[in-house]
Amino acid sequence: MATIWIVEDEERIGLLILAAVKKAGHEAVRLYDASELEKRLKKETPDLLLLDLMLRGKDGFAILAEWKARKETARVPVIILSARSAENDKVRGLELGAEDYITKPFGVRELQARLQTALRRVTPEAQKWIAGDLTLQPDAREAWQNGARVALTYREFELLYYLARRPGQAISRGQLLREVWGYPTEDDPSRTVDYHIKSLRAKLGDDPANPRYIETLRGTGYRWLAPEGHEA
Ligand code: CA
Repeated sequence: MATIWIVEDEERIGLLILAAVKKAGHEAVRLYDASELEKRLKKETPDLLLLDLMLRGKDGFAILAEWKARKETARVPVIILSARSAENDKVRGLELGAEDYITKPFGVRELQARLQTALRRVTPEAQKWIAGDLTLQPDAREAWQNGARVALTYREFELLYYLARRPGQAISRGQLLREVWGYPTEDDPSRTVDYHIKSLRAKLGDDPANPRYIETLRGTGYRWLAPEGHEA
């Protein structure tokens, strides 16, 4: 059970979220705006924050920026829940450090699934994961190859870390969408997974025709080839 705070000023949606979080077995605390949030933060810190963007007073982006700048809350995941569906807003939210961005209206089960994914990500993990010439630091989401830092996006790191812990396994695109993206569906019409695999390979200097790390399994998905990793 996790403690989840919800900052949402709309009564009906707030109640809906509250009920969904409780039904998923978590403790839920409802807050209406930044000033209530700040008051509460003087006493405690939640395990996850569900954050609306359009609020009276400070908006969600400002709250998020402060959240990620404060030492006590920087590592607490934030999921934005907003009616603003423009790509700009999503990108801004993710760049400010939100774990996920859910567009309203949303399904209760979708919210619960994405909540679980975000929470699973923050459960304590290895300090470092070493697989051949790669070193991954899940805390900081940083990767090194032969001691040189590889600049990865948030999702590229998650994808790499997921694959690297499953050497030799055939992993489907649907499984990656579910486990790495937290999507409730296994359909990938926009080829999100392939797109990210491609950029990951480019950054690792992995040739798909003669792969060292990631093998494409025709009609199936992908397989991690590099040596089995270990915690360090
Ligand atoms: Ca609102």
